[in-house]
Parts: sequence; structure tokens; C-alpha cells
Amino acid sequence: MTNSARFLIVGPQGSGKGTQGVLVAEAFGVPQVATGDIFRENVKGGTDLGKQVQEIIEAGHLVPDELTSELVRDRLAQPDAAHGFLLDGYPRNRGQVDHLDAFLEGRGESLDAVIELVVPREESIARLRQRASDQGRTDDTEEVIENRLAIYERETAPILDVYRERDLVLPVDGVGALDEVTARIFAALAERGLVPNGDGAAAVPA
Ligand code: ADP
Repeated sequence: MTNSARFLIVGPQGSGKGTQGVLVAEAFGVPQVATGDIFRENVKGGTDLGKQVQEIIEAGHLVPDELTSELVRDRLAQPDAAHGFLLDGYPRNRGQVDHLDAFLEGRGESLDAVIELVVPREESIARLRQRASDQGRTDDTEEVIENRLAIYERETAPILDVYRERDLVLPVDGVGALDEVTARIFAALAERGLVPNGDGAAAVPA
């Protein structure tokens, strides 16, 4: 069996999944693929894709599944994702789960773990308010935050049921100091035998 580290990180807005995802991806030597970051870069760069998605993102709505999934498939087909990846912000609903399943199946691949960062609603709202004043993200206004959290609860949280049925979900308490949360994630992965090896490549027992 080839070594692989194919991870999802799922959690509400403000759960810290972006920060934690980068750390996990680096340790396992796989690319972190964050759809929100890719969309924002495209908006900033004024690309065709950016123009297509700008209004949607600023309103806090979801970009259409087909467009998002195509972007992810292109990214995961790059050579650096051959042995693994960490997806942040995708899949975000049932349709995207089906798209990802079909893509991975077509390649004879499967997910190794879904990291669920558990953070209560009040805590995520408080963190997002803080981020709004720190970073000035255009989708961090009060109304849009509400909208994004509502979509998370309605569409994204239920995908965890699908992955729970496959016994892939590792729930991790996301409240606490950043490095404490990081340590909890690595401990949960290690319990599944998912440990980074010294040179940054993934080591997964067969
Ligand atoms: P957050 O999780 O805080 O909402 P992200 O950076 O993950 O931030 O996403 C920002 C925005 O990008 C989303 O509100 C949505 O408009 C768009 N987006 C990101 N990922 C997806 C996705 N998988 N499907 C549809 N839209 C997405």
C-alpha cells in the first residue's frame, strides 16, 4: 500500500481550521487546499473566476458546486497532491461530497481521516468579530457571518454524518490555545496510525 495522507478539516467559521490545517499539511508534507483562499486570490487578482464568484462570496453564499468541484479536481490532479492533501472548506454540502467521492474513486484513492474541529457557536461568532476588526475581510460583516454560519449548520455539519458512517471522523475540541488544539489533532490522527514521518512524507500503515 502506498503511503498517503488524504485529510479533510471541517469546522464552523472561526473554528481555526485554516491555521490548524496548514500545520497538519506541513507536517505530513502534503498541500493544504483551501477553496476560500483560492477564491479570494482570484477575486484579488481580478481573474475570470474571481469576477464570477466575487458577489457570491461577499454575500456569504456558496459558489455553485460544479464550479467549486472543478476547481478542486484541477488542484488535486497536480503532482504535489499525488500522495495526499488536506482540504479545508471543501466539501461543504452533500453534492460536493458526491463529487469528491467520484473523483477519488476514479483514481483508486480514498480519504484517510476527517478532522472535525468542534467549537460552540458563541465562540466562533466572537472569534469572527475579532477577525473582522483584525483583517477586514469583506465577508466578515455581522450579517454575512450569520449567513455563513447558518449555511454551515444547515448544509456542512450534516456531511459529517456521511463521514461518521464511514468511520472517518476524528472530533477534536477546538477551544483552547492554538498549540493545545494542534496537539489534540496530532494525537487523534496518531490514534488512527496516521503519523508524519521525519522527512515530511506521510506514513500510513497498510
Ligand atoms: P469561511 O469558512 O469562514 O466561510 P472560507 O474561506 O472557507 O471561509 O470561504 C469563504 C467563501 O468562499 C464562502 O463563504 C463561499 O462563498 C466560498 N466557498 C469556499 N469554499 C466553498 C465551497 N466548498 N463551496 C462553495 N463555496 C465555497
